[in-house]
Amino acid sequence: MTATTIDGKAFAAGLRARVAEGAAKVLAEGGRKPGLAVVLVGDDPASSVYVRSKGKATVAAGMESFEHRLPETTSGAELVALVDRLNADPAVDGILVQLPLPSHIDERAVITRIDPDKDVDGFHPVNAGRLATGLEGFVPCTPLGCLMLLRDVLGDLSGKDAVVIGRSNIVGKPMAQLLIRESCTVTVAHSRTHDLPGVVRRADIVVAAVGRAKMVQPDWIKPGATLIDVGINRTKAGLVGDIDPACASVAGAMTPVPGGVGPMTIACLLRNTLVSACRRLGVAYDRAL
Ligand code: NAD
Repeated sequence: MTATTIDGKAFAAGLRARVAEGAAKVLAEGGRKPGLAVVLVGDDPASSVYVRSKGKATVAAGMESFEHRLPETTSGAELVALVDRLNADPAVDGILVQLPLPSHIDERAVITRIDPDKDVDGFHPVNAGRLATGLEGFVPCTPLGCLMLLRDVLGDLSGKDAVVIGRSNIVGKPMAQLLIRESCTVTVAHSRTHDLPGVVRRADIVVAAVGRAKMVQPDWIKPGATLIDVGINRTKAGLVGDIDPACASVAGAMTPVPGGVGPMTIACLLRNTLVSACRRLGVAYDRAL
């Protein structure tokens, strides 16, 4: 058996097109474009590339992009003051502060300062709490993208055994919450888990978010399982995921790296920004987005 490739790139392109239609509706009915502010402190090359591609994608979806590039020497107080201005700016529907921040700035203080109703990254504890308690809020973009792919491949997820490898606030924990919401039986594995291969072998759904190249091996996989690879590892052989591509010989479907989860993250950021603009302007939006 060879697993079906889950084409995240194609799914993300479709989502971006639907978001662009929604943004045109916001302009027509709400009188302005949805706006996303992205803040970058310092000149980390990888972060700079992410910020540039987020800006391009925002404009391509018919939204306003407000880019704030601040020097490495920016103080925590100056950054918080900028967040306050963006919170108060009516043209800004979404605020994203690119992480990691320089070590002299308290990341938590900055994230918790963002208005939860403009927190399109979904990192504010209020949004984590909303997700955990079933309230409407913003869900972090990467796990939201993973869920969209899973629903597209499997339809109803109810009753499936899901294993999430990784327990970060950005990916693992919100992914587990989303799968609980879908009525999966969820196991969260992490660096202290005993017999990880044995745990993964029970799973109908595996989401790997660790950051270790090709860690998940073919003999860990239940035949026919659906595999979502969040990992991005730069190796001499190029970009590889956390799941060994050889798992395709056992799995039912799996995401490639690159071209799987990665493109979904930016598409979901645009989706969250559109939803924020619709809520703030009272424009109806497609709940299936
Ligand atoms: P993180 O470092 O915050 O978390 C990694 C998690 O892996 C931890 O919870 C840890 O307990 C677990 N872990 C570490 N070693 C392990 C082991 N041997 N066995 C089992 N679990 C182990 O990372 P993160 O921010 O959650 O990101 C995870 C990966 O996903 C990274 O490769 C990152 O680059 C990638 N990522 C990709 C996207 C995307 O858009 N595709 C977005 C975010 C993160």
